[in-house]
Amino acid sequence: MQTVNGIHHVTAIAGDPQENLDFYVGVLGMRLVKKSVNQDVPDTYHLFYADGVGTPGSDITFFPWPQMAPARIGTGLAVHVSFAVPHGSLSYWRERLNKFKVAYGETETRFGETVLPFHDPHGLELALVETDIPERFVVWDGSSVPPEHQIRGMHSVRLFERRLAATERLLTERMGFHFVGEENGWRRFAAQEGSSGKIADLQEHPNMPRGEWGTGGVHHVAWRTNDVDAEMSLREEIARAGLQPTPLIDRFWFQSVYFREPGGTLFELATDGPGFDRDEDMKHLGEQLILPPWLEPHRAEIEAVLPPLRSPQSK
Ligand code: ZN
Repeated sequence: MQTVNGIHHVTAIAGDPQENLDFYVGVLGMRLVKKSVNQDVPDTYHLFYADGVGTPGSDITFFPWPQMAPARIGTGLAVHVSFAVPHGSLSYWRERLNKFKVAYGETETRFGETVLPFHDPHGLELALVETDIPERFVVWDGSSVPPEHQIRGMHSVRLFERRLAATERLLTERMGFHFVGEENGWRRFAAQEGSSGKIADLQEHPNMPRGEWGTGGVHHVAWRTNDVDAEMSLREEIARAGLQPTPLIDRFWFQSVYFREPGGTLFELATDGPGFDRDEDMKHLGEQLILPPWLEPHRAEIEAVLPPLRSPQSK
């Protein structure tokens, strides 16, 4: 069976772009690997945060839409995003969050791993999970977080669903996931060997209203595919399941297909390549506003409406 290789990126909706940048770079110590615009709504930033080189699977991205209402948490939505950190890092992270006056919750154990939950400034539910470190991670030397504690990439996403059965069938019969187990009403599914970065947790809420996009909410979850061939055969599977995947869309740094899973959450398939250094020197990722070639002729108009962003002060 065709299988996805885990999480490629998660895209969420933020409020003020400067607050978003200050938090993900200034507090969480991630690298801004691409400062671009929403390719469908080019008067909006699209900010990409990742590890030192933008390794697929390390990437959380945002559309800052400060005028939008807060997300309504509900079914058919990804409601929680976890990042991987090395074993023994959480005491460092509690101190760091204290320093930046970021509130966090009680430490929890989820499926045998130690988890620190908190929110970003616009209400997105996040957590840090102490876990085995994936080999693919690349340290960012410019981070204000020391290398041994830096975020290693995505760990997992959590989705609320009105009914689980159809989503579970899609994951297991079409996308290569397997069922791992159930804990506190969360049913865990994982791609491949199921390590960090390959996990989706589902929880059923038959009476909860449908969720709605808004600030502090996840817009979509993208899943990794090796290349366009693998992606197109997964796309066939998804179409065969009666869903309606888009044609292949060129996102310039990767190639994408979008579809809604049966519960309503927007999913994307995305290729690992070509990568964020396709149009910028790896040393200078994220420093300039980058437009895909077809928007370059409109640079002046686009720059005129985007609010200026300054680098976050690192502490
Ligand atoms: Zn995406």
